[in-house]
Order: sequence, then C-alpha cells, then structure tokens
Amino acid sequence: MSDSAQPRRIVILGTGGTIAGRATVAGDNVGYKAGQVPVQELLAGLPAWADQAVDVEQVAQINSKDMTLPVWQALVARLVAHLQRPEVAGVVITHGTDTIEETAWLLQRLLRPARPVVLTCAMRPATAVSPDGPQNLSDALAVVQAPGACGVSVVCGGQAHLAKDVAKVHPYRVQPFSSGEAGPLGVVEEGRLRRFRDWPAAAPEGLDQAAADRFAALRALPRVAWVTSHADADGGLVDALVMQAAHSPDQACRGIVVAGTGNGSLHERLQAALHRARDAGMRVVLATRCTEGSVVGWSAQPFPDLDGLSPAKARLALSLQLAGV
Ligand code: ASP
Repeated sequence: MSDSAQPRRIVILGTGGTIAGRATVAGDNVGYKAGQVPVQELLAGLPAWADQAVDVEQVAQINSKDMTLPVWQALVARLVAHLQRPEVAGVVITHGTDTIEETAWLLQRLLRPARPVVLTCAMRPATAVSPDGPQNLSDALAVVQAPGACGVSVVCGGQAHLAKDVAKVHPYRVQPFSSGEAGPLGVVEEGRLRRFRDWPAAAPEGLDQAAADRFAALRALPRVAWVTSHADADGGLVDALVMQAAHSPDQACRGIVVAGTGNGSLHERLQAALHRARDAGMRVVLATRCTEGSVVGWSAQPFPDLDGLSPAKARLALSLQLAGV
C-alpha cells in the first residue's frame, strides 16, 4: 500500500457519559446530568481537529451506569461497520467512566480488532470550570493514531490502559483508572503515546466478525449475579436466586460470580449456599474482591476462576459464555 493509500480517517462514536455532561450550576462537578452534549460539539472544542479527516456519529446518549445490551449491540454494529471501511485508521468512543471497563473488555473479547479502538471519558462535566474531557478526547485521538496501535484501550487522565486490566478505582479524581500490577499501556505526553507494554493480539482476519454476528443475534444476555464474601456473610441472597430460578425460570439467574476475600476465600455460610446453587444448575465462578492481583489457584478451590478477571469482567465473561458468544 502506498503512503497515500494508508487509512487515515478517524471515526468518533459518542455514547454519552460525564464527558458529555451538563450541570445547571457552572463548576458543579458532581450534580450534573451525564449524556447531554452531542459528540459533534465535543469535537468542536478541539480546534486543532477542525480540518481533519474525522467522522462523528452519535450512537447513544446515556449515563453509562445504565448500559444495556441494545446499546452495546448498537455500538458493536457501528464499530464493526466503520472498522470495515478501508479508509478508517481507527475509532475513538466517548463513554461514561462508570462502566467503560466493561465496554472496553467486551469489545476486545468480542472483536479483537487489528485497528485501534480507543475509549475515552471524563470525570468532570463539559460545563466544569476546568473540564478534563477536551484533553482526554485529544489524548484519545493521539493514541488512535500512534504507530502500530491495535486493539481496545481506554485513555483518561494522561494514561492509556488495556481493556483487560483497566478498572475504575476512584470516584472523583481526574485520573480514576488503574491497571493494577500490570500497569498502564503508556502515558500520553503532548500528543504522543509513550508506551510501556505491547498492544493486544488481534484476530487473524483483523476482526472477529463471527463473534460480532453472534452478539448481534442475542435477545438478552443470560443473567449472572455478582455477590461478595465478607465478615458475617450468609447465603440468603444466593438461596433467593435459586428460589427465583425454581419459580420463574424465564428470569432465572444462570450464573454467579462470587468475589471472595483475599485469595478467593469464602465465608462458610456463603460457600454452602453457592454449592446449593451449583447443584441446582447455576455456574459459579470465583474472583477476588482485592483490587489488585488475581486468585492464585489451589487444589481445593471450590469454584473455577476466569483468567484473573475482575468481578465485573468475570460477570460479563460468564454471561457471554452462557450465551455461546
Ligand atoms: N455516571 C457517569 C457515566 O458513567 C460517570 C462518568 O462518566 O464519569 O456515564
């Protein structure tokens, strides 16, 4: 391919979030409404991009705490359509911070795209005295154009994170994400990514179209609950899920992710209830409630873990497995 034939268009897909949030009182960083400002307006805030080859599309306008399967399906459909355009070099997605790690992981798990997909967000609404959204969007546009960029990442607060590792660890500060022990993919400095880690492996065809098709055909994601072990825990919630499954099979929970204390240890009362759930046909998966590290397997481990995924990602992983996606 000659240089002039290199893909160079960038697509920005808007889904809402605080980056598109508006407060009635300028400078209110917490009492705002997420998902108000059109993504086109967010881009207009970056004059350097005014004449660039950028396509902008509003896929949704939500607070990401309210993410649903139909929104994810719409996003995957538009993302796949754009990634298949030969002139598109990569896609930036604006998103809320609350569930960005789940969306990022979903896109990487489903598509394993060879072209870069960079999710970005903000902790302060667009109306803040000092909004972080414009810098984050500008950094995301830099990362999507970084040499060799590939796969799904999240950019916020001057850092880039891989989808597998990223987690929101702070409710307020403008750098709320961590990749734990793995560390960030890199940092963005003056429009350049200084990378510490490898990009993720891509699907051989450049995109897993078959997985995208299976996801598009879903009418619902199998229900998977997430429960946590703690001091004085009991099995009441788990027993209630089993009872609900017996009485209303349509709404039945088909799996449970349990976030154990430490290395996945479980209160004996909760563990007994989880065995009852498994005997009743539910899939039970173990994770840790520790924010760093993952369960180190041991011989008497009562339930399998899912590749060291956090409880949030293990919950989604189990749901996708149960759905056959
Ligand atoms: N609740 C917002 C959202 O996830 C928070 C944010 O974007 O920071 O959409």
